[in-house]
Amino acid sequence: MPVRATQRGENRTPLSGSYDAIICGASFAGLAVARELAGARRADGSSARVLMLDRYEIGERQTSACGIPTVWLEAMDLMDSHRQTFHQLVVHTPGHTHAWPLPWSLSTFDYRELCNLLFERSDCGFETAKVNCRSGDTVHTDRGDVSAPLIVDCLGWRRVLAGGQSFQPPDAPLSRGLEVHPGGKGDELEIWIDKRYVPAGYGWSFPAHDELRIGVGSFDPRFHVKEPTVRLADDLGSDPEGYQGNWIPHELRDATEDGIFFAGDSAGHCLPLTAEGIRTAFYFGIVCGRELRAVIAGERSREEALRSYAAYNDAHEWKFRWMLRAQRLVPRLRPRALRGVVVAMTLKRLVDWSFLHYLRIAPPDIVSAAPAPPPPVRRRRPERVAA
Ligand SMILES: Cc1cc2nc3c(=O)[nH]c(=O)nc-3n(C[C@H](O)[C@H](O)[C@H](O)COP(=O)(O)OP(=O)(O)OC[C@H]3O[C@@H](n4cnc5c(N)ncnc54)[C@H](O)[C@@H]3O)c2cc1C
Repeated sequence: MPVRATQRGENRTPLSGSYDAIICGASFAGLAVARELAGARRADGSSARVLMLDRYEIGERQTSACGIPTVWLEAMDLMDSHRQTFHQLVVHTPGHTHAWPLPWSLSTFDYRELCNLLFERSDCGFETAKVNCRSGDTVHTDRGDVSAPLIVDCLGWRRVLAGGQSFQPPDAPLSRGLEVHPGGKGDELEIWIDKRYVPAGYGWSFPAHDELRIGVGSFDPRFHVKEPTVRLADDLGSDPEGYQGNWIPHELRDATEDGIFFAGDSAGHCLPLTAEGIRTAFYFGIVCGRELRAVIAGERSREEALRSYAAYNDAHEWKFRWMLRAQRLVPRLRPRALRGVVVAMTLKRLVDWSFLHYLRIAPPDIVSAAPAPPPPVRRRRPERVAA
């Protein structure tokens, strides 16, 4: 079991030291990276020193409605955090309701339980500290400086460890989402594509056994989602309590920058249109973690790992681009056309085709797939000997 330090009050001790890898952010992406580094060894056979940092304790602050394809929960062996499973998606448009029979089910889970399960299976150290910035291989936190040749930013959309231009709403490609978590029960996973709640985006109700996660997401960061979230909860007969919200990136970004690896929202890995970002944070976190493991083991250089991870990320760019196109198109559809699409998706062949393609953007097979082989060693051309 990993040992946790207490960092509250007078026990909030200064932080320092050098590590093989530092994972900044202990939510979906960070914990997926940590999972891949469990038991990692250096080239000399000694255990790797890996540190994970987050401003909150593991699982303390829920960052999503926690809906995910069930196959992903199973593949990651996280069913102990499972709450409820849904085999269809109920879609409401103005005046109409249709059910899409899904080819794979979606499940809700408990955030704290899932994070703790993942953390228990890692063997990295963990410290609560606010990450402020970075210079070179050193991460500056509110408790002091720590350094490592391998640093991963899993800190969410702010991409704290990147330098460069500011990336702020409302000008950055960010959606916004807010939800409430009233107690209650429900049998259906429901979404509302209805301009009365949000001109571009959707509302949702995700039941999770004894609580509902009711929210509204807007693709337009200028549109305020608090009033429609409260209204949707009210329309569903629930009290708006337990607010949780954030900005959600809807454009893929570079997965490496200035020697740093990025995974999850910090790399824009949340999918446009659906704002589904948990399995993609797992997916890219796993790939990133395997790269780091190979570097620690001396099987490849940091530069090779940076190149390989960046190339893997870029190979997915066209999928994210298509999802973004759909995100831009759907709000422009006239009510009749929108209803036509929603009705068409009740056809099994069409819903199977589209949802199976959608799952393949970040399929769960990656969890059990063998790590990618190290890239071929580039041999330097022999220097010419002057005659
Ligand atoms: C309202 C809402 C509902 C959503 N529902 C779903 C859903 O049902 N299914 C789905 O797939 N996606 C959903 N998403 C999207 C999903 O939540 C994100 O894509 C996902 O959380 C990204 O994971 P991550 O690990 O990259 O970042 P995050 O989950 O945002 O985690 C970032 C971590 O970094 C820490 N951190 C941030 N800054 C600092 C700092 N300076 N110092 C130290 N620590 C820091 C945070 O405490 C946090 O633990 C939802 C988003 C919103 C806003």
